[in-house]
Amino acid sequence: MNWIFTGIVTNMKQNSINFEQGPIRPPNEARSLLLRLTRNCPWNRCLFCPVYKGRKFSLRSVEEIKADIQTARNIADDIKALSWKLGYSGNINDAVISAVLDDPGNSESYRSIAGWLYYGTHACFLQDADNLIMKTDDLLAVLKFLKEKFPQITRVTTYARSRTVIRKSLESLKRIRAAGLDRVHIGLETGYDPLLKLMKKGVTGEQHVETGRKLMEAGIELSEYVMPGLGGQEMWREHALATARVLNRINPHFIRLRSLRVPQRVPLYRNLRDGSFSMQTDDMLAGEIKRFIENLEGITITSTVTSDHIMNLLEEVSGKLPDDKDRMLAVIKKYQALSDIDRLIYRVGRRGGAYRSTDDLAQDPQTYRKIKALIEEVQQKDGAAGVDSLISSMVDRYV
Ligand code: SF4
Repeated sequence: MNWIFTGIVTNMKQNSINFEQGPIRPPNEARSLLLRLTRNCPWNRCLFCPVYKGRKFSLRSVEEIKADIQTARNIADDIKALSWKLGYSGNINDAVISAVLDDPGNSESYRSIAGWLYYGTHACFLQDADNLIMKTDDLLAVLKFLKEKFPQITRVTTYARSRTVIRKSLESLKRIRAAGLDRVHIGLETGYDPLLKLMKKGVTGEQHVETGRKLMEAGIELSEYVMPGLGGQEMWREHALATARVLNRINPHFIRLRSLRVPQRVPLYRNLRDGSFSMQTDDMLAGEIKRFIENLEGITITSTVTSDHIMNLLEEVSGKLPDDKDRMLAVIKKYQALSDIDRLIYRVGRRGGAYRSTDDLAQDPQTYRKIKALIEEVQQKDGAAGVDSLISSMVDRYV
C-alpha cells in the first residue's frame, strides 16, 4: 500500500522529465528502449547519409548516461505505480497506455517508456551511430549499470562503424559481450572498394570482413546493412557482386537491405544534379537485388535476410539462407513479370503505404482502381516524370 502511494507521488514528479534520445534506430528496434550513449556520428562524411549532417559528434560521460538510465528506471517505476493505482496490478495494458498517452503533461520520454513496457520487448537499443568508439571500460560500466537497473532486459544492441571495431581488441569485444551487448548493426552498405571510396565510407571491403568476423568471434550477433542502389546505374553490377562476395566471407547473422534515397540535404544530391550519379529506377533495383541474392552462396551462407525498411520496394525479399533463397528470388521475379501498369500501380501503392506485397494488387480492387486513376491523372498533367516525382516524394518522406 505504502509502495503504491510512493509511486503516485513520484509519478507527479517524473512525468515531465526527459532523458536524452537520438534521432534514429533500426526499424526492428522500434519497440526497444532507446538510450543515447554518444551523440551523432564521429565520421559523418558518407555522401548518402542525411542523419547527422551539421551535427557535431560528442561522447557522453558515464555519469551522464547513468543518470539517464536512472531516470528511465524512475519513469518505469512510476508507470507501474500508475497501473497499480488504476487497478491493473502493475500490468501495462491498453488502459494504462491510454492514460499515459492521453495526458498532455507527460514528456516524450515518459511516453516512450510506457510504449516500451506496453510492448514488453525487453529489448534496448543504444544510440547513436558508433558506440564502440567509447573506451571499453566506460562502455562496460554503462552496460553493467543498465543490467542492474533493468534486469528484465534480454537484448541490448547498438550501431558501430567497421573502422572503429577494428581498433578494439578481440579481448575487449569479448568483455563487452560478457557485459551484455548482444548485437551490433554495421553499415556495410557495399563491399565494392571503388564505391566505398566514392561514397566516402572510410572503410574497405577487407576491413568490413575483418570487423564482421571479429565481432562474431567475440560472440556478438552481427547485423550488416546493405544499400541497394548505392552503385547507381554505373556500378550496380560491381556493387551487387562485391557486396555478396564480402558477405559470403562474413556470413553474418543478419543481412538487412535499406535502399538508397537521395534527398536534397545529402551531399550525394549534388552528384545527382550535375549528372555524375544516376539513380537506379525501381525496376533496375529489382534486377540489382536479384543479382545480389543470387550471388549469396547457398551452401556456405546461413544469414537471415530482411527487407523491413520502409524504403525497400519488395518487403518480402526476406528469409533464411540457404533454404529461402529461391523463395526470395521468386518474389523479385513475380514483380518483374507484372505488366507495366501493374508494376507502376504497385510502386505507387507500396510507397503510399497501401501495399506490402504484389499479391495485394489483386486483393483490393477498389484501391487498385483508385491508384490507377491517380496515376492517369498525374500522367495527363505532368507525364511519366510526374508519376516518378510523385513516387519519389512519397518515399522521401521516410528519409
Ligand atoms: S558512418 Fe553511418 S552515421 Fe556516420 S555518416 Fe556514415 S552512414 Fe552516416
